[in-house]
Amino acid sequence: MPLLAERTSRAVPSAIMQVAEKAKALKAAGRDIISFSIGVPNFLPGQHVYDAAIAAVKADTGQYGSNRGPDALLDSYLLHLTRNGITGYERKNVVTGMGAKFVLFNAMYAFLNEGDEVVIPTPYWTSYVDIAHILGAKISLLTCGLAQDYKLTPAQLDAAIGPETKLFIFNNPSNPTGMVYTKAEVLALAEVLKRKPNCWILSDDIYNQMVFDSVGWHHLATLAPELRDRLLILDSVSKTYGMPGWRMGFMVGPEHVAKALVALNSNHLTSAPEVVNAAAAAALRGPQDIPAQKCAEFAIKRDEVLAAFAKVPGLICPRPQGAFYAFPDISFSFGKYYGQTLIDSDVAFCNQLLETKGVACVPGIAFGEPKSLRISYTCKSTELTEGLRRMVEFCHELSATAA
Ligand code: PLP
Repeated sequence: MPLLAERTSRAVPSAIMQVAEKAKALKAAGRDIISFSIGVPNFLPGQHVYDAAIAAVKADTGQYGSNRGPDALLDSYLLHLTRNGITGYERKNVVTGMGAKFVLFNAMYAFLNEGDEVVIPTPYWTSYVDIAHILGAKISLLTCGLAQDYKLTPAQLDAAIGPETKLFIFNNPSNPTGMVYTKAEVLALAEVLKRKPNCWILSDDIYNQMVFDSVGWHHLATLAPELRDRLLILDSVSKTYGMPGWRMGFMVGPEHVAKALVALNSNHLTSAPEVVNAAAAAALRGPQDIPAQKCAEFAIKRDEVLAAFAKVPGLICPRPQGAFYAFPDISFSFGKYYGQTLIDSDVAFCNQLLETKGVACVPGIAFGEPKSLRISYTCKSTELTEGLRRMVEFCHELSATAA
């Protein structure tokens, strides 16, 4: 029997998708399930996006497109960057692909030889580690615990990046914690990075339009332009425009890096479908009222989540100021019982919560932090309220001894 390549055996199914699938299966079996699991924005783009897609179908050339992406799409993305205060990039600095995950895979593939070190703050978005595993990279996880609001400190970064470190991944606002770095915090990290000239920096910005409390969104590219020759920006239309299923992502960085990723595209993707390109360009160029409105709604939902968690003694949740996640520490429950069942981990907590109350959350271990869980709160308001009520009830029903 011929064998698969060794790297293929290192590919694992996404832990988040597994929880989402389990919730779906229970729902299909007739259970009353509320899913806080998968990170989908749960809204649709504006009519102008569908109009652009329909126009693209009508004007279909039936041809292969550009490996980099069509000019209209590149220009629309550059416009989006400019709106965010990031100027100075041109078409030659941009490359597109089928979603940020695809572009991220390409970038990590482009940077990391087997054994190369990648530094990843923890809690992390699962795919950073999953992709690094597939590539056989050496993964250095920096634990950013509850006491530091799940944020990386300059001292940690300084100690972690050595002369051999190839890549540092920075995600702001963060999935899974919803934390947003202040201007001073980004500046302090930038100061460290300036002293680490051998290390690529990948800034995953896909929640850049979801920032609350007027804290602002601050970027290495603007606060430390001298980093730009090593800085890659990752983005997509998935979260901002309610378009995760359309699959369009972007990377902006040094010209030669974008060129290398275009060359990779020419060997697998060739080009994204014209319809998707047109829809994504319309989203980026068109009215920006839907993302703004959704951001305001998510801030209100975040408040509801925090208010519910405040009813549970011992449950601690640093205040998320972006994205659409909350990441409470649930370790107060470890060693307690739900009925006969001992809650001895985040996985046991989430399983029991799903089994007994029909609420699906992702155990923190999926993000490298086993004392927590992630809730994605973009569902309908009625579902959010009911799901939180059940979660609080579940926590109150935990007891020190088995029933
Ligand atoms: N980066 C982060 C932090 C994410 O949370 C996600 C999706 O959940 C992605 C990248 C990938 O987004 P997409 O491939 O849908 O563009």
